[in-house]
Amino acid sequence: MRSPRYARLSLDWGPTLIDASASLAIIQEAISTYPGVVVTTGLNISGSVLLDLASRSDFAGAVVFVDTGYHFPQTLSLWEELRDRYVTMHFITLCADNPPDTLYRSDPELCCSLNKVAPLEDYLAEHRVPAVLNARTRVSSPGRRDLRVVEHGSRVRINPLVEWSYEDLEDYLEDRGIPYHPLYREGYLSMGCWPCTGPVQPGQDPRSGRFKGQGRSECGIWLGADKA
Ligand code: SF4
Repeated sequence: MRSPRYARLSLDWGPTLIDASASLAIIQEAISTYPGVVVTTGLNISGSVLLDLASRSDFAGAVVFVDTGYHFPQTLSLWEELRDRYVTMHFITLCADNPPDTLYRSDPELCCSLNKVAPLEDYLAEHRVPAVLNARTRVSSPGRRDLRVVEHGSRVRINPLVEWSYEDLEDYLEDRGIPYHPLYREGYLSMGCWPCTGPVQPGQDPRSGRFKGQGRSECGIWLGADKA
């Protein structure tokens, strides 16, 4: 039996125009256009799809994940599972050199800045990464409804899955037997750190489970075209 369709949301922004073959073509073009392009993932279900599409595109570069120190154990297990599955890609775990503390309670934006944004930006700068492939979709947030396939800035962001719906993602994962985050089935449509992430109900903004009570919906990685 298929997993519950948490994706049956009220956010319907039109037909899905991009299918897997189009996303594959985008990834392949990104690889040839931007040598040194890396994949970043937060291990949402779209991240599992992106890794599989990257593998099918013979991507042999870096796949980068930021371990903030506050991930759910299931997130870390999935990371290891995907690393063991896609052996031709280089899985790189980034961490801030901070001892675990309760900064997420007293100053969550600083916590994100230190533990999430800085490790990724430092890595991308140090390795002079020209472009980043990521798994954001338009349906993942009202704030992303105008997300384009390519965003130009100090570093190019390529979003091959922008037009995928949650149903598309679920079908792809199921058809190809790809591991994905187990908490998705419990309503965690957007995955983040345990202190700042909760489930959502069908019909709610998929990111409404993130940063509750903090007055924001983004950690900062994707804010501003001049970042990541
Ligand atoms: S999501 Fe929460 S715990 Fe994770 S880095 Fe940001 S503030 Fe800290």
